[in-house]
Amino acid sequence: MTAAVEARARAEFDAEIRQETTPLTAEERQRALSEFDIVVPTLGDQFDAGSFAGVPVPRCKLLANFGVGFNHIDITAAKASGIAVSNTPGAVTDATADIAMTLMLMTARRAGEGERLVRSGQWQGWHPTQMLGVHLTGKHVGIVGFGRIGEAIARRCHFGFGMSVSYLARSDKSPGFPVVRAERLMALAAAVDVLVLAVPGGAETRHLIDKAVLEAMRPSSLLINIARGEVVDEAALIAALEAGTLAGAGLDVYEFEPKVPEALSSMEQVTLLPHLGTATEEVRSDMGHLALDNVAAFLARKPLLSPV
Ligand code: NAP
Repeated sequence: MTAAVEARARAEFDAEIRQETTPLTAEERQRALSEFDIVVPTLGDQFDAGSFAGVPVPRCKLLANFGVGFNHIDITAAKASGIAVSNTPGAVTDATADIAMTLMLMTARRAGEGERLVRSGQWQGWHPTQMLGVHLTGKHVGIVGFGRIGEAIARRCHFGFGMSVSYLARSDKSPGFPVVRAERLMALAAAVDVLVLAVPGGAETRHLIDKAVLEAMRPSSLLINIARGEVVDEAALIAALEAGTLAGAGLDVYEFEPKVPEALSSMEQVTLLPHLGTATEEVRSDMGHLALDNVAAFLARKPLLSPV
């Protein structure tokens, strides 16, 4: 937690704050469920069905998740154990959309590769055909998942870069600027210059971007993933990049995070960020405060602000 959130947690609640930044171990998850009234977990803390089964009568009654994505919590199993779950939507939207734009620009304009060139001392100076990238302005972006973050990315693409926007979602959207709803993922993948992933993770979207979708993409196109690593079949992505089925990828998340395959690290045409979507002081504090607002509401027997 940021200092501001930690101070509030200590002031308002009888709080134990874990200092390690690694995910909770199985033993720690068991202790969390059996010894605390409320737990504030975050991504990586795998509250799967087995965790709940291991504590048949949990003391914990709320998992106030720090983060909007909750694919690391088995919601059905939590509810069956009498444990409510909340998350931190909204607080993360703009920062995550900004990271999507960062990845789009960095990948299209070969910024990571350029940085590596300058730092290596190998740069020979400007010339007319040096490191030519892709011009994003006016291109066609396809956004898979058009919720809070997907729409915020679309807004930036439309107003900032004059891009045409298509999207895939389960329902129709009217964001107040021109967007076209795609009927099928394959057709969207084949039509766009940049395909951006902004769907939740979980069983329903696991490997949504598979070999067939990657093969449908244009050889000049880019894939950007700020959603969850498991949404992409990473082995198929590596094969597609090696085969030139698509031109590049910008990734903030990985299928087996924090493991990043050597094959990806060694490719110049990919931009790799360490899950930076919400990584600013303000946003992490906003997320923490929303998590604690949920805790406070729960203790006051009021409705949760952002129930899952
Ligand atoms: P959201 O508002 O719930 O939006 C999710 C969108 O995905 C909705 O448009 C939904 O469609 C669509 N969707 C869900 N399942 C789908 C499916 N099977 N096929 C097609 N579309 C589907 O969530 P959000 O706040 O935008 O966040 C999205 C995700 O981003 C989070 O769940 C999280 O995993 C990830 N995230 C990553 C970072 C990071 O640091 N990289 C930061 C924040 C969030 P409908 O609107 O039709 O229901």
